Amino acid sequence: MMQFSVGEFMPVADGAFVAVAEPDGVNIGLVVGPSGCLVIDTGSSPEQGLQIRREAERVAGAPVVGVLVTHWHHDHLFGLAAFTDVPSYAHETVPSWLGRPECSRAADELGVAVDALMAPTDTFALAKVIDVGGRRVEAIHFGRGHTDGDVVVVVPDASLIFTGDLLESVGPPDFGEDCHLREWPSAVDGILGLVAEETVLVPGHGAPMDRLAGFTQRAEISGLYGQAEFLVAQGVRLEDAYEAGEWPFDEATVRGALPLLYAQLAAEGKVPRTQLRLA
Ligand SMILES: [Zn+2]
Repeated sequence: MMQFSVGEFMPVADGAFVAVAEPDGVNIGLVVGPSGCLVIDTGSSPEQGLQIRREAERVAGAPVVGVLVTHWHHDHLFGLAAFTDVPSYAHETVPSWLGRPECSRAADELGVAVDALMAPTDTFALAKVIDVGGRRVEAIHFGRGHTDGDVVVVVPDASLIFTGDLLESVGPPDFGEDCHLREWPSAVDGILGLVAEETVLVPGHGAPMDRLAGFTQRAEISGLYGQAEFLVAQGVRLEDAYEAGEWPFDEATVRGALPLLYAQLAAEGKVPRTQLRLA
């Protein structure tokens, strides 16, 4: 059985909090305005979503007036059914994931009924200004990266940014089948362009990050793709790539990401020349 739990909301900036929801250690954001609050990401099940909502309203001392989902992955989206009476914001690609096998598989693994999952109501392509009970928050999509629909939440008056899983501090970012490795660094550049010395970055998983940590991880993600691209150009085959490369992440992460890197490079017409000769 999966162990679902929600930790306490801890302050990260003026009128902003983060709680960690298990089983995936996902950061749940809370932004409190004068007469309402916004929850960022919803946990892994409708029941967990409800628990998050109750705790958020208790800490905020104000009703939830909106909820935002940073991307379609289960630990961010699956609690949305607890928020059907308020606007739910997400990138316009998010609803389409609900019908796909990847989503059903995740629900099965968690023991969550697929028909209990809800789609966000207020979707957008690029950006959205959200009125959080009199406090302005902005949500922005900087292009494809961790998924095709990552949204970053900016709280301008607190110099605070919720990055979703475009950045992670608990370990390396999660390079799943649905990520876009070539474009990911550009999406992080969007975030970094907004970051001042004092800005706090709340990643999708792990403790808050500063500007330097953001720049470092951007370089590592870019290095992973660049290294694979270089090896392919050198004719190094997938099975030899780990040994042949200089990698910015640990062995398990790199070995896990390599088939994806090679597949995404192949989709751009970049294949090792030795493989071409064999074909
Ligand atoms: Zn994710």
